[in-house]
Amino acid sequence: MRTLIVANWKMNKNLAEASQFIQDLLAIWKAGGPGAHSTEVVIAPPYTALSPTGEALTGSPLRLAAQDVSAHKEGAFTGEVSAGMLADIGCEYGLVGHSERRSGAFESNAIVAQKAEQLCLNGLKPIVCVGETLGDRESGDTAEVVLEMLRSSLPPPGTPGRDKLVVAYEPVWAIGTGLTASPEQAQAVHAIIRDCLEEEMGEAGKRTRILYGGSVNPQNVKSILSQNDIHGVLVGGASLDAIEFGRIFGYLDSEDLPS
Ligand code: PEP
Repeated sequence: MRTLIVANWKMNKNLAEASQFIQDLLAIWKAGGPGAHSTEVVIAPPYTALSPTGEALTGSPLRLAAQDVSAHKEGAFTGEVSAGMLADIGCEYGLVGHSERRSGAFESNAIVAQKAEQLCLNGLKPIVCVGETLGDRESGDTAEVVLEMLRSSLPPPGTPGRDKLVVAYEPVWAIGTGLTASPEQAQAVHAIIRDCLEEEMGEAGKRTRILYGGSVNPQNVKSILSQNDIHGVLVGGASLDAIEFGRIFGYLDSEDLPS
């Protein structure tokens, strides 16, 4: 499976900063080795920088993602942005169910599933985020929590494009904390996510890419990606600096990665 590396800028970067980042990153991309060029790299800027970032990426192999989307198709939803609008400006992916939205904006699994459905219906690929809290892990409930979250956050069966979705496993205790799940801890959860995807989606579930997220950096990315069921990473803090982010994908060697 092709490795997928996603930069989630969260609420960071004005237009000038976004533009400088893309200019620097494209230069790093061009200088990168074969590993870099076989990797799919996706940038998720804040809404205000989406359109100009998309324009700056035009003609490059780098792709654009939104950090969120409305659960509704259109209408009286002040402040929201629909999947159709994101398609209109060239977004290819959309994050849904990030833990900062599940906790900060009280998004339920049902809302996350509706958002994922809207993305699919508009030709975008949802990146469905799931992950346990430290309390869940300490009480031995990681598998149960993650699987319930995943099953209830998927777009309904029969949704066109459902087979193209991506799952991101992001333990909440590892996001922005500097703590990382060990490669073995992450692999154990990815393996149960894989089984669940096969149950829910059949053949397509065998091909679904499962990303790891949680304090990924240039030092730990290779060991994380060496695991069988880890097909990429979702990067927050370390994606804000073009050189640091470039180190995450730019010099990966294809032989270092599982097939
Ligand atoms: C994230 O926000 O998805 C994330 C993984 O953040 P960080 O890399 O900063 O932990």
